[in-house]
Amino acid sequence: MELRRKLEILADAAKYDASCASSGTEKRDSRPKDGKPGGIGSTEGMGICHAYAPDGRCISLLKVLLTNACVFDCAYCINRASSNVPRARFTVQELVDLTLHFYRRNYIEGLFLSSGIIRSPDYTMEQIVEVARQLREEHGFQGYIHLKTIPDAAPELLAAAGRYADRLSINVELPQEQSLKALAPEKDAPGIRRAMARMRERIDAAKEAKREERRAAAPRFAPAGQSTQMIIGADGADDRAVLGTTANLYASYGLRRVYYSAYSPIPDASSLLPPQAPPLVREHRLYQADWLLRFYGFELDEILAGGEGGMLDPGIDPKLAWALKHRERFPVDVNRAPREMLLRVPGLGAKTVDRLLSARRHRSIRSEDLARLRLPLAKLLPFLVTADHRPRGGLFDRADVRRIVAPQTGFAALAKPQQLALL
Ligand code: SF4
Repeated sequence: MELRRKLEILADAAKYDASCASSGTEKRDSRPKDGKPGGIGSTEGMGICHAYAPDGRCISLLKVLLTNACVFDCAYCINRASSNVPRARFTVQELVDLTLHFYRRNYIEGLFLSSGIIRSPDYTMEQIVEVARQLREEHGFQGYIHLKTIPDAAPELLAAAGRYADRLSINVELPQEQSLKALAPEKDAPGIRRAMARMRERIDAAKEAKREERRAAAPRFAPAGQSTQMIIGADGADDRAVLGTTANLYASYGLRRVYYSAYSPIPDASSLLPPQAPPLVREHRLYQADWLLRFYGFELDEILAGGEGGMLDPGIDPKLAWALKHRERFPVDVNRAPREMLLRVPGLGAKTVDRLLSARRHRSIRSEDLARLRLPLAKLLPFLVTADHRPRGGLFDRADVRRIVAPQTGFAALAKPQQLALL
């Protein structure tokens, strides 16, 4: 089969995997260093376009499968053994050459490599690791590498993957263990967790050694950590179940990211699967809730309290939903409130909060300071007191407050200066 056709099939087959973002790794570039010759590539992206979708997905990696053939038959997967799709497989050499070629042409900043399982988990993992090994050791490739690992593969192979990759990931696939049993009976949920735990130990050990400057003693291991992906809407799990699993994964395995991928119906699907994809907004709201859990000090129950029946409110972001359920906590004085409360103001991000905290040490914050920071005043001012602004009393008692502060209807109108004066 022509290389071009293989690339068409295997890049298309990889599009279902959302778990690739080239964040958080160490800095490397192609210059000679410490007496060693230079290489090729850089994780800092000189001359390379870093493009991220709003949900954080990186779009400048060569994202492919080694093969879309698979001996497993996971019901939700287009590449399952019983699927009637054209199959293709790259050789190790082809993948190495493609990556270098695309990198030199500045099409990509790195490689995201996953695969169906061929022959055995060990055999497949060996092939994946060999691609990364050749890139690093034989070509001095310094660009970003993300390898999808196969949980049942031998621990030595996972260790080797961590030597060459910036990030490793293992997909938990579904939010609930019982769903995995029903839809992917060949997969082993406890085995996936064990592999994640082993990876965490190695990642932590490598980090600790680096901190203590015992680099020579510490084997390099996935400096950008590990991530995972969950398919949303393929089983009956509600947002509470999804986010509960997420919170547990962050706490137990120190994951850098959990990615959510809305289930896409596949041809000849099992009757166990829903006939329709979930609304994409569900995936989006889960990403927003995930950020609240990780960076904004929200507890899971607080986030879910903004919605109904275990689901997030699809109409507004979960922070705004929480604020509308806790109107008694607003408005918040930007010049006096503690960081924890400022983080809960819809429209204020974590970095902005830190800038405001630092600015208010020197002067009182006024509305024009917020405007200078290019903050969304229409969204913010109903929730904030500044030195020159206090929202008009009674806003949060109004039955139609949601219409006023929610983006679909309220923001555009409130952005106008004459409307701001009403608040
Ligand atoms: S093991 Fe992976 S590639 Fe194979 S059927 Fe399951 S999800 Fe698809």
